[in-house]
Amino acid sequence: MSDRVQRLVQLQDLELMIDELQDPDHKRKEEALGFSVENFAQLEKARERLLKQIPKQDLRSYRRIRRRHVRAVVPVHNGICLGCFQTLPTRIQRGSSASGPLPACENCGRILYWF
Ligand SMILES: [Zn+2]
Repeated sequence: MSDRVQRLVQLQDLELMIDELQDPDHKRKEEALGFSVENFAQLEKARERLLKQIPKQDLRSYRRIRRRHVRAVVPVHNGICLGCFQTLPTRIQRGSSASGPLPACENCGRILYWF
């Protein structure tokens, strides 16, 4: 996985956790379990740090996809996009270069990573 995609995966993980904590039902549960506001602030801080390391064009793609899908970055398993479960054409290369477009699924548009 390239560093570019890896950072987007980290950002997504953080944002999904933040979203979950903001969900009122979930929040009550977490409070009962003793998950504090402090942890939430730490997540926000980690997210801000990460945002500074992500190229603007990558962030723009990520945001655009996140408006439509909960997960903008999804893994590929056995040549299948785990976002939409379509088989990917073989010409979609594993990984991605330091510059240029991120590898994306032609069917659903999600950013792909291989692991
Ligand atoms: Zn897809």
